[in-house]
Amino acid sequence: MKARVKSSASSSRAAFPAASLAPAAERAEAPGVFPLLAEHAHEQVSLFFEPSSGYRGIIAIHDTTLGPALGGTRFWNYPSDTEALIDALRLSKAMTYKAAVAGLNLGGGKSVIIGDNRTSRREAIFRAHGRHIESLGGRYITAEDVGTSTQDMEFIRVETQHVTGLLGKSGDPSPVTAYGVYRGIKACAKLRWGSDSLTGKTVAVQGCGHVGYFLCKLLFEEGVKLIVTDIDPQRVKAVVQDFRATAVQPDEIYGQAADIFAPCAMGAILNDDTIPRLKVPVVAGGANNQLAEERHGDVLAERGILYAPDYVINGGGLINVNAELHGWSLERARNKAGEIYDTILRVFEIANEEGIPSYQAADRLAEQRVAAIAKVKKSFV
Ligand code: NAD
Repeated sequence: MKARVKSSASSSRAAFPAASLAPAAERAEAPGVFPLLAEHAHEQVSLFFEPSSGYRGIIAIHDTTLGPALGGTRFWNYPSDTEALIDALRLSKAMTYKAAVAGLNLGGGKSVIIGDNRTSRREAIFRAHGRHIESLGGRYITAEDVGTSTQDMEFIRVETQHVTGLLGKSGDPSPVTAYGVYRGIKACAKLRWGSDSLTGKTVAVQGCGHVGYFLCKLLFEEGVKLIVTDIDPQRVKAVVQDFRATAVQPDEIYGQAADIFAPCAMGAILNDDTIPRLKVPVVAGGANNQLAEERHGDVLAERGILYAPDYVINGGGLINVNAELHGWSLERARNKAGEIYDTILRVFEIANEEGIPSYQAADRLAEQRVAAIAKVKKSFV
């Protein structure tokens, strides 16, 4: 991605001490902010401190070629400011890629608030965050993430309009996410078996939460046999009752002889321990960050397992947020999520053409779109 130079007033809010003021020992240890930005060509980082509420916020903007940077606000007690910054940088870059492959006109951003997310002083903290967002003039739009709630977004909304996920707006994104995952699974079936019909197939679903439940519903309606697991027995019970699923213990899900494994719980579940246990030709599910490390994507490819890159197949959540921003109907959001079918096919086409694993092909697709639009935007209008 292209690097840009920004002379932003927000950069002057940086909490890192000016080199000329810091003692020599401190200077040597001070984190290199600009090298961190340069590593993945981030455009901007903004730091904001509001002493009365104790608000300490970082907004990272990775790339705005496609549109304003969108990404949630994470409220977390990071062990250090540097770790908070690195998390914001990592997550904002991921948002650029996710929006790009979803075909949305959004860039990648993310913000973090450093602190204990169980605090009751939410109004002051989130209004301070709202003012921070407002100071960026629309370059960054926020949404809910770990440690934040819809009510927190309402506090932000008092200070800025650049926020989504408000009460009574687009609502729970999971049905749209699950629909996109379902379409992605069908694309994988088409590639693996020559037909995208899932009737008679067996799908092992890890996690019967919001996405997992709606995904099971869609699969059941197409005549899929479901094997499910969850650490929450109530959630398993609902899926067993509603969709005639067979329940297994959480650790048994990896060894199920099924056609498709659909991870819909937490991340890093494709790792050195679990991949050797898989007895499926396809892994395609809604969870974020499924690969413990990138090399696990290589291992899956070496084992001949078709892996649908997580940020491509679960793009429906972001599509739902985009729908709220632009006032789309649920039907339009669903149709857009349905396009994940073609995107997954395109990812595997690139993987075949270039002889690379699917997770790399997804990155390639995202980078191609950003580069193409950057060129288009070069002309003066
Ligand atoms: P959720 O909290 O509603 O559901 C997750 C479920 O996983 C819970 O029922 C939980 O008990 C279960 N679980 C946790 N650890 C488990 C384990 N070890 N084994 C089995 N089950 C376990 O969350 P969700 O909204 O359904 O999201 C699921 C995944 O999809 C997450 O990784 C999330 O980041 C990702 N995702 C969600 C959306 C969305 O629209 N909700 C969009 C994109 C990505």
